[in-house]
Amino acid sequence: MSRELQAVARARKAFETGRSKCLEHRIRQLKNLQRLFSERQRVIADAVKKDLNKSEVGTQLYETMGLEGELSLAIRKLKEWAAPRPVEKNLLTLSDTVYIQPEPLGVVLIIGAWNYPWAVTIQPLIGAIAAGNAAVIKPSEVCVHTAKVMEELLPLYLDKELYPVVTGGVPETQELLRQRFDHIFYTGNSAVGKLIMEAAAKHLTPVTLELGGKSPCYIDKNCDITIACRRAAWGKYTNCGQTCIAPDYILCEPSIQDRVIYEVKKAIKEFYTDDPKSCPDYGRIINQRHFKRIMALLEDSAVAVGGDNDESDCYISPTVLRDVKPQAKVMQEEIFGPLLPILSVSGLDEAIQFINKREKPLVLYVFSQDNKVIKRMTAETSSGGLLANDCLVHYSVSSLPFGGVGNSGMGCYHGKFSFDQLSHLRSCLIKQLKMEGMNSMRYPPHTAKKLGWARFFILKTIDLGWMGRMALLAAMVVVAAVALKNYLL
Ligand code: NAD
Repeated sequence: MSRELQAVARARKAFETGRSKCLEHRIRQLKNLQRLFSERQRVIADAVKKDLNKSEVGTQLYETMGLEGELSLAIRKLKEWAAPRPVEKNLLTLSDTVYIQPEPLGVVLIIGAWNYPWAVTIQPLIGAIAAGNAAVIKPSEVCVHTAKVMEELLPLYLDKELYPVVTGGVPETQELLRQRFDHIFYTGNSAVGKLIMEAAAKHLTPVTLELGGKSPCYIDKNCDITIACRRAAWGKYTNCGQTCIAPDYILCEPSIQDRVIYEVKKAIKEFYTDDPKSCPDYGRIINQRHFKRIMALLEDSAVAVGGDNDESDCYISPTVLRDVKPQAKVMQEEIFGPLLPILSVSGLDEAIQFINKREKPLVLYVFSQDNKVIKRMTAETSSGGLLANDCLVHYSVSSLPFGGVGNSGMGCYHGKFSFDQLSHLRSCLIKQLKMEGMNSMRYPPHTAKKLGWARFFILKTIDLGWMGRMALLAAMVVVAAVALKNYLL
């Protein structure tokens, strides 16, 4: 039996013992993860530094701090999330117990990406553990050092039968995908997303696909351009542009293009000095394959800022491209690197048209002082998320569902959304074996009179207080008695 098969079989067997469902067990595992992040910060940061040249502070700020927040939220709220959720009733079910019971799905496969390797792998795991599942964890092989550290560390802190780590590349992932899971949670590009869905379809396994795409950034001329450009530059060049929610390109009127270029250039200098290559806060491209891919995107566009590069170091400086045409290479795929193309539009109308002609993005950014512009952008476009006058920060708000729509993905997570995403929300209705008279209206022989009663009890919506509900219940007992006499006796 292959290593992958063994891990899945072990996780399934461990799930069947029922221990992952126990709330205390879930909380203990989440606390163990908390301990991992407080005790192993250094080794985590060292590996991420080797993979992406992120600084130790950067790794905490953009990766582990968010996980710590999600962990303490889940620990604090787990009892509430896992409890039965009473729902509204109609007149017919007034005396029944009607509720939603979240229950674990079973064994979840988590496939991570390399760009924020801890965040995108462990965040779904927090949801999987909280929801009472077992999980097979497949870190991205592209972040070589981090995958190794995850493989070493996670079993030291977690129940290793329930939450095994499987490392490896495409063949290993494909082997995993041949197995039956109860949910697959994938983060990565849309092309592989389609393969994941295809493999999942064979077992009718539900999927969450956290994908990417080209997230637009519209800068309105009625705006504080200095602040807009500083925030957009931060969103773009953090992690060397290798962020799924980075603003992919800027749309603005030609009259402000020079100003935008000037302000982005100023922000680059402010963040990364005159020499980003030696700045500890400026990252590197993950590998030479991606370096070459990004450099090729530059071919038919004019560089306004940056453009320096060093293949041996996977370094590309923060770069701005001017007067970029929609047909340019850089506009044909998600850039996922530190290139910021600027495209001209005649105003908001054309910006909206431009966005709507393309795939639905993971996030849409709009910078404007004018609320009407923000409202129109919100009302007339669609995207996974929408941010006005800032970049990236919606990711850190646990009460917002994070995910894409259309080509940028399906399903969502963070906070309680992770719990719900990896739970089955079971509908429960518990009735007593009493008041059978009430049911006469649904039993044959069907008559117009019975239909009239059925319409009343099922379709009638009245907002009653507690007293009203009690009174109605009493009335229903009388109705049931009458019905019983009329129809059944
Ligand atoms: P990647 O190369 O690490 O691939 C992701 C995972 O898919 C890996 O674990 C890999 O083993 C597996 N994989 C790759 N090819 C496969 C195949 N043919 N069959 C089965 N499995 C395969 O990551 P990537 O795709 O380069 O990641 C970058 C993309 O991810 C970008 O598009 C980015 O926008 C997106 N992303 C999205 C989010 C999000 O939260 N929405 C977060 C991070 C990255």
